[in-house]
Order: sequence, then structure tokens, then C-alpha cells
Amino acid sequence: MTVPTITLNDGNRIPQLGYGTFKVPAADAQRAVSEALELGYRHIDTAAIYGNEAEVGAAIAASGVARDELFVTTKLWNDRHDGDEPNAAIAESLDKLGIEKLDLYLIHWPTPAKDNYLHAWQKLIQLREAGLTRSIGVSNFLVPHLEKIVSATGVVPAVDQIELHPAYQQREVTSWAAAHDVRIEAWGPLGQGKYPLFDDPAVAGPASAHGKSPAQVVIRWHLQHEHVLFPKSVHRERLAQNIDVFDFALTDAEVAAIDAIDPGDGSGRVSSHPDEVN
Ligand code: NAD
Repeated sequence: MTVPTITLNDGNRIPQLGYGTFKVPAADAQRAVSEALELGYRHIDTAAIYGNEAEVGAAIAASGVARDELFVTTKLWNDRHDGDEPNAAIAESLDKLGIEKLDLYLIHWPTPAKDNYLHAWQKLIQLREAGLTRSIGVSNFLVPHLEKIVSATGVVPAVDQIELHPAYQQREVTSWAAAHDVRIEAWGPLGQGKYPLFDDPAVAGPASAHGKSPAQVVIRWHLQHEHVLFPKSVHRERLAQNIDVFDFALTDAEVAAIDAIDPGDGSGRVSSHPDEVN
């Protein structure tokens, strides 16, 4: 299974589809990541706060997959924006992951009440210059947060990883990102199983028309919108299903019908609002 890559604004390439490890308990993580790597996933998304970096690292080490074939992302947690904390945090993550350099390091949340994400961004720029990560980006940044770091540093993040699925499309952020060549990574791409996406006729209809599952239709919708995504499952058959999405395409009309699922008033959001996470 070959997953297409996308070129980021810094010239680095990222596999468009990966495996996400939020809420994959440490006890399951090594097996699940090993299975993902066996099935052809080459992009793993984790975070310090997920508590599974060591198990992700163990699976990478045991896989025999060459380091330069893998894309590994982790994230700086909210209580480590200050002073030299980002330097210590990335060192700890690299140690747990058992690698010398990340492919992508993200500020996990802007935590605007603490208002130190600009400092954290300046530190990530230095970490990239020091060779500890190939690319740097942000997560859960809304337009004011993005404008603040870009106007202060002139350095545009390679990605913004945000909650995005058919019921919550964040068009303000995606428009800004498109205008500034920031790639959108869609977290909760399946609505975390909390929004009844799979029963919506705009998803269920194409699923039966193409002989695919509703999850595969939603993943395909993301791919056709050129999002990067990394759906999460701990079940091998779902891991296999979620990467088996390159042998069909939604029609323009099918994509448009899924676009119309978003109620447009923010009520499709299934997780925390960035202004409320601190
Ligand atoms: P998701 O939308 O990927 O939903 C995962 C859930 O979808 C699973 O628990 C399962 O219930 C269901 N599912 C998965 N595959 C399925 C299938 N084939 N058929 C039916 N149901 C299926 O949600 P997520 O895990 O929150 O998001 C994906 C990744 O995004 C995470 O693992 C993590 O890496 C990242 N993430 C980042 C942030 C952030 O703040 N940056 C927040 C949440 C998640």
C-alpha cells in the first residue's frame, strides 16, 4: 500500500495518511503501531501527553522499517511553553521515541490564557535550526494565534493540526491556511466516533455505491480535500480498512454533499475549543 505524499511549505514531504495514537493506551500502543507499520502506514502521530511515546518508539525499533521511510510527529505539551522547557521536552520525547530527530514537532495547544505560545514558537524555530526536527508546526491554532506568531517571527508553520471532519470544517482557519501555504492536518477526522457521521445519507450513500465502509468514505473526503489525516483505531481490521482507500474516488457531487453536513454554527465540534484549553 503506497500512500501519497504532500510537500510542505519547507520542502519536506509528509505521507498524507498516517496512524494517530491519541487514547491508544501504552499497553496497546506497541502492538497497534507494529500492526500499522506492517500494514503499510509510514506516518505516526503521537504527543508527549498521550503517554505512549516509548511504546511507539519500541514498535518503530522492532519494525525494521528504515528511519528515512518513516514520518514521526510529536507535540509539546501545554505546561512546557516557558523558558527552556521546550528544549527539555523535545529531548525527552526523542529519548522515549528512540530517534535522533523528529520529522515534525508541534505546539499542541496555544493555551491563550497563559499567552506564551509566541515564545514556544520561537523555541521551536531554534530547535529546527539545531537539527532536532525537520519541520515545525502548530496544533489547535486559530487565525489570531497564527497571525501573532507569523507577524512576530516571519516563520510560517508547516502545518496546523485542528479538529476537522465533515460536521466541523473550520473554514476560517482553512482559508487562512490555504492563503499562507500551511497544510491542514485534520484531527478527529472521523468525528472521534462522537458525531453520527456514518449514518448520514451523504456518507452512507457513497459507501454502498462504492462498496466501501462509511469510515472509508469520510477518509476519502479528507484526502480529496488534500488534508493530512491519521485516523485512530486499535483494531487490526479497522487499521487495514482505513488505509485501503486509494482504489476509489468520490465524485464532485458526493464531495459537495459531504461538505454540506457541517451545520455551519460550530455545533458539529466534538472536542475542546482552543480558547478554553489552558
Ligand atoms: P478519530 O476521528 O480518528 O476517531 C477514532 C475513532 O473512530 C475510534 O476510536 C473508533 O471509534 C472510530 N473508528 C476508527 N476507524 C474506524 C472504522 N474503520 N470504522 C468505524 N469506526 C472507526 O479521532 P482521534 O483519534 O481523536 O483523531 C485521530 C488522531 O488525531 C489522534 O489519534 C491523534 O493522533 C490526533 N489528535 C490530535 C489532537 C490535537 O489536539 N492535536 C486531538 C485529538 C486527536
